[in-house]
Amino acid sequence: MRFDIFTLFPEVFQPYLDASIIKRARQNGLIDINLYNIRDWAKDRHHTTDDTPYGGGGGMVMKPEPVFEAVEAVLGTQRQIPLILMTPQGRPFTQKIAKELSTVQHIGLLCGHYEGIDERIREHLITDEISIGDYVLTGGELPALVIMDAVSRYIPGVLGDPTGAEDDSHASGLLEYPHYTRPPVFRGWPVPDILLSGNHAEIDRWRHEQSMKRTAEKRPDLLDKFQSGQDDE
Ligand code: SAM
Repeated sequence: MRFDIFTLFPEVFQPYLDASIIKRARQNGLIDINLYNIRDWAKDRHHTTDDTPYGGGGGMVMKPEPVFEAVEAVLGTQRQIPLILMTPQGRPFTQKIAKELSTVQHIGLLCGHYEGIDERIREHLITDEISIGDYVLTGGELPALVIMDAVSRYIPGVLGDPTGAEDDSHASGLLEYPHYTRPPVFRGWPVPDILLSGNHAEIDRWRHEQSMKRTAEKRPDLLDKFQSGQDDE
C-alpha cells in the first residue's frame, strides 16, 4: 500500500518511519511511504506557503497554490486516489475506518498547520476529512502518522501475528483481555492459573470474559453497540 503525505514539515516523520514494525514493513515492501514538502511547490523567492487571513484575526493560513500544485504533480489532476485532510473538524478516526482504508491501494494525506488551510483546498481538492480526536494539535503531522500506523497494521504481513489486529481492542467492539508474560510470579503477584493450564478452550473463554468485564468497567459506551452472544450477559 502506498501513502503519499503532503506536509510543510517532512522531517517530523523520519524517526518514526525508521523504527520498529513500520521500518520493517517498509523494508519488506509492504508499505511505501512518500513524504512531499509542500514548500517545494512554492514559486516565489522566499518559498512562501502561508499568508494572513482575509477578514483579520491571528495566525496564518496555508495558501492554496503550493498545495494544489504539490498534489496535482504527485497524484495527477484526474484523480481516483483519495486525498484525506487531517483536521479536528473531520469524521472521528476509528479502528473501523483504519480497516476500511487498508483495502485502498494508494492514499494521500494532507497535513495542515498554523490556523489551517485555505477553504478552497477543502472544497476542491480533498476527498475526505479525518480527526484523530476532539482536541487541537499544532499540525496534521501526528494525525497522519497515527492514521498511517493504524492502517498499516491491517496490511497482511505487517504484524508478526497475522490475527493480531483482529484481536486488538476496538476490532471486535470490545477492549482486549489482559496480557501476562514470564515470570509466573512477580513480587508476589501471580499470573492467573488458567493461563498456565494449557487448556485453550478455557483460556479463550476466560479471555472473552475478561474482555467483556473490562469493557463494562472502562468503556460501558462500547458495550451498548456490541453484538453480544448467548453467554455474554
Ligand atoms: N483552526 C483550526 C480549527 O479550529 O479547526 C485548527 C488548526 S490546527 C492548529 C492546525 C492543523 O493541525 C490542522 O489544519 C490539522 O491539519 C491539524 N490538526 C489539529 N488537530 C487535529 C486533530 N484533532 N485531528 C486531525 N488533525 C488535526
